[in-house]
Amino acid sequence: MEDGKRAVLVTGSSSGIGLAIAKRFAEMGHDVALNSFEPEAEVRAAVDDVAAGARGRVRYFRADLADAAQSFGLVGDVIAAFGQLDVLVNNAGVQKVAPIEDFPPADWDRIRAVSLDSAFHTIRAAIPGMAERGWGRIINVASAHGLRASPFKSAYVATKHGVVGLTKTVALEVAEKGITANAICPGYVWTPLVAKQVADQVRVHGISQDAVIRDIFLGPQPTKQFVQPEEIAELALYLSGDMARSITGTAISIDGGWTAK
Ligand code: NAD
Repeated sequence: MEDGKRAVLVTGSSSGIGLAIAKRFAEMGHDVALNSFEPEAEVRAAVDDVAAGARGRVRYFRADLADAAQSFGLVGDVIAAFGQLDVLVNNAGVQKVAPIEDFPPADWDRIRAVSLDSAFHTIRAAIPGMAERGWGRIINVASAHGLRASPFKSAYVATKHGVVGLTKTVALEVAEKGITANAICPGYVWTPLVAKQVADQVRVHGISQDAVIRDIFLGPQPTKQFVQPEEIAELALYLSGDMARSITGTAISIDGGWTAK
């Protein structure tokens, strides 16, 4: 692999934040593996979008990250395609909004499996190769909800707090191996994940759609603006650089001031 060129996997990169991260790394000339659970035909536009501006290789890998074996196997498939994996971005995530007494146990399991369990499996698959080469970057897209709670999001808040804990633990274990592990904690970013919550939020809070956007989404963000996916992509790129070698074990907020309160 050429100097400075990295092999990168971004999970859950067919839309939203993951797609923006994949696009940014591809533009910078890195080899980028995209992933989602959708059939390739359904994500063709997203993959083409990344490939259009890419200066390295772009590949799509379908895998259901709610499944342990597929999460672990995804890393092996990427290594088989690119020869190695240098930057692992655990981004895939799902959401469900409901009071705890009505929260469907299957949704609890799925939310935890897609974000937290999958990160455990991809990380344990990625570390041996990174350690062998003495260089690696693990970036887990957690959330402001990895640091703060909101009502009706028990599974998501518990999962994202878990992702932050996993990140810190991994960072300590690999600190002497040239590998860093960090969590990015975005506030609200307008993506399909947020758009799909609107109806649930209207129902559980008993307020209008406009009030959901103003009070529930933008209420906690002092800037009163959504974070843009590209801002998160730029932070991920920075964390992947050599100048970020001493940043490890952190949960970095990019939330318009939410967690300053
Ligand atoms: P999104 O819905 O646009 O994208 C989620 C991605 O995950 C999609 O590519 C989807 O296909 C993929 N995915 C879902 N289930 C999967 C599965 N079983 N296997 C493989 N891939 C799967 O959402 P987004 O807003 O871009 O969220 C990306 C990450 O950022 C998530 O971890 C989310 O929790 C986190 N986040 C989002 C926000 C926000 O406001 N949008 C805020 C903080 C954190």
